[in-house]
Amino acid sequence: MKPLLPGGTIGVIGGGQLARMLALEARRMGYRVAVQDPDPQGPAGQVADVAIGARFDDEEAALALARASDVVTIDIEQVPAPLLKAVERLRPAHPSAAVMEVIQDRAEQRRFLQRHGFPQVPHGVAGSPGELEGAAAVTGYPAVLKVTRQGYDGRGQAQVEGPGELGPAWEQLGRRPVVVERYLELEREVSVVLARSPAGEMAVFPLAENLHRRHILHTTWVPARVPAPLARRAVELGRDIAVALDHVGVMAVEMFLTRDGQLLVNEIAPRTHNSGHFTFGACLTSQFEQHVRAICNLPLGATNLVHPAVMVNLLGDLWAHGEPPWERVFAHPGVKLHLYGKARPFPGRKMGHLLILDEDLERASRLAEELLDALAAGYADTP
Ligand code: ADP
Ligand code: MG
Repeated sequence: MKPLLPGGTIGVIGGGQLARMLALEARRMGYRVAVQDPDPQGPAGQVADVAIGARFDDEEAALALARASDVVTIDIEQVPAPLLKAVERLRPAHPSAAVMEVIQDRAEQRRFLQRHGFPQVPHGVAGSPGELEGAAAVTGYPAVLKVTRQGYDGRGQAQVEGPGELGPAWEQLGRRPVVVERYLELEREVSVVLARSPAGEMAVFPLAENLHRRHILHTTWVPARVPAPLARRAVELGRDIAVALDHVGVMAVEMFLTRDGQLLVNEIAPRTHNSGHFTFGACLTSQFEQHVRAICNLPLGATNLVHPAVMVNLLGDLWAHGEPPWERVFAHPGVKLHLYGKARPFPGRKMGHLLILDEDLERASRLAEELLDALAAGYADTP
């Protein structure tokens, strides 16, 4: 593929916050953006050149999007691989249908990691209730059941403390095939966010350290507070996975650092990632610009960290007392507010994030928590 230069059109299937930030960066660079989402006035539709009102699994709409675009990418991992295969007959698609086939199914993803010898969480697979005990015998307890398809932000997961809880957990998850994993004691979680171009050029962002609450990303610290050899190992692992997948575009690999010092792959996301939001403001190139560069076959941008940063997600819970008092955020000159333009806040929904730029990450974390408290309190607490 010849480099796709400004003036070209990027088609995005799915119109959430990832597509929105991609569109903002792509349009800054002079590209046109078309999105496909049931809500043409959703987060990405608001800032795109063209919005096609259709679901992410509407193949006819996706083919129309492809015809109107020069290259196609995705905003959500649920875009069906067969749909992408059809799109690929018309235009290049990144991630590819082949990559999505591996990633969309947790069991398939685990088999891929196994095949290539990448270190990962001890696990088994169960397609029926009868296979649960066998799978859990491999992992031991506590364990966690994760549906193989369509889980996110901890949805589609159930923790079990012993064999007696396997059956009820299976029911609770809707009797679907699951991966059973050992529930590990974690020292830290980190993620490698990188980009790979069609020619195989790679650029890696500084390692991110992540804290999840209720299985949803809460805070990212950059640089990650881990020893340099460990950070190097994580980056190497991320690069090897991108090559093994033959992925083009931005990709994130979530990793666990266990209490006993093992670095294990949790999951792969072949797209821009929540734990890479810090790049948009703290790095020379954002993950969104980098994704544009990679899928348009341009040279990749510099990934240097311009400033240490802490990112915290703003979930819908903060709207419990009405619109949060944003002036509390603007009172701090080193804090960047990102809101995704979602009309309806609900608990656990990602509505935006804060990026706090500070040399002192401890101070930044304290400010992040202070701001989250102030935003949650609503106007009642505003002096
Ligand atoms: P999702 O697709 O919802 O992001 P993950 O598998 O990444 O699902 O799980 C979300 C979070 O739950 C992880 O980042 C981690 O904090 C916790 N978690 C998931 N699996 C395990 C596990 N096997 N052991 C310990 N913690 C886990
Ligand atoms: Mg995850």
